[in-house]
Amino acid sequence: MDHFAYRDGVLYAEDIALPRIAEEIGTPVYVYSRATLERHAQVFRDALADIPRKHIAFAIKCNPNLGVLRVLARQGYGADVVSGGELERAIASGIAPEDIVFSGVGKTRAELALGLDRGIGQFNIEHEPEGVALAEIAARKEMTAQAVLRVNPDVDAGTHAKISTGKAENKFGVGIDVAPEIFDRLARLPGLKLRGIALHIGSQLTSLDPLEAAFVRVGRLIADLRAAGHDITHVDLGGGLGVPYKEGDNPPSPADYGAMVARVTRDWDVTLMFEPGRVIAGNAGVLLTEVLWVKPGAQSDFVIVDAAMNDLARPALYDAWHDFQAVRPSGETMTASIVGPVCETGDTFARDRVIDKVAAGDLAVFRTAGAYGATMASTYNSRSLVPEVLVDGDRYIVVADRIAAGTIMAAERVPDWID
Ligand SMILES: *Cc1c(COP(=O)(O)O)cnc(C)c1O
Repeated sequence: MDHFAYRDGVLYAEDIALPRIAEEIGTPVYVYSRATLERHAQVFRDALADIPRKHIAFAIKCNPNLGVLRVLARQGYGADVVSGGELERAIASGIAPEDIVFSGVGKTRAELALGLDRGIGQFNIEHEPEGVALAEIAARKEMTAQAVLRVNPDVDAGTHAKISTGKAENKFGVGIDVAPEIFDRLARLPGLKLRGIALHIGSQLTSLDPLEAAFVRVGRLIADLRAAGHDITHVDLGGGLGVPYKEGDNPPSPADYGAMVARVTRDWDVTLMFEPGRVIAGNAGVLLTEVLWVKPGAQSDFVIVDAAMNDLARPALYDAWHDFQAVRPSGETMTASIVGPVCETGDTFARDRVIDKVAAGDLAVFRTAGAYGATMASTYNSRSLVPEVLVDGDRYIVVADRIAAGTIMAAERVPDWID
């Protein structure tokens, strides 16, 4: 459930009519709903009610906006971060360092040191040399890094290849077959408290089966590690739960997920950690755009909007679907391809789709844009960096400014030795 709904024929975010934001802030602009973020955070937490010891870390890569993070920090969420930049953001948003988990396949030594200096709660080690480096850095600082070893359970998550992370050929984690020996060696290192296992098999998962298969494998690994004398107190189950992007999409609910997790992990006797991203933020945001032109095409008309692939990359990157809705729908429909102004054919949001009939000057939204939206924006084609707005009831605030193309250009220079 979300808080984007029509009132008297106009699309609102909570109690704010979207045309007001378009007029005051301009388009394109991301609009987030605080109430929706909070609701999703509560639903996910409630779904885990049967799990006695747990820690929920929002995967901030899907929406690292400071305002959004503050909302989730107030919900008691920690953060899953994948870079030093995200680590600093999480702390700046008010998330306690001990509630931060540091994931990521290519952490630098400087980032590992930063995590230690900031006192984060857990490092998710992706391979043995990283664990060795972390142990060395921690020992030199006379500190102990709390860590878990990420395993690659070799299951097919059944999602888009570019966001599948748990197959043997993917770059993430260590093979579950070699995990016991690696765990054994890392667990001996001073500077490291290796306390468990992590996994994350992919994103936008639409079935619980691959997750369950992976968790079962991890359950066996935990038993093996304990039999070898290791103390296993934490298991990080990652994120990945899918969200509905279009009518007919029926991903597992957080409640179904929670029930499966509770059943599979019943005897594990550990603190379970979760890293939800998309399921919290995806449907809490829209990308508000204005129709610039409607241009006749060979197959169907082109609706040319002022948002482009640089603002919302998912369709170009993953062939992703985002619902397109007029802010003031007339009730009529048209068949059109929705495209942005960027000079490549990849800048296509939808092909030959039946949509609300729109004309130049009309406002529309791409739905389900709260996750992996603004954070992937670029300035390709020397476009401005898209701004973000957070709505809270009958008020709203710009939580990220539009960064003008000129500001980006001002950070560049022409060498004076080119005459
Ligand atoms: C991306 C990512 C997540 C979040 O995935 P969602 O599909 O957005 O829930 C969680 N953990 C790790 C390690 C990730 O890389």
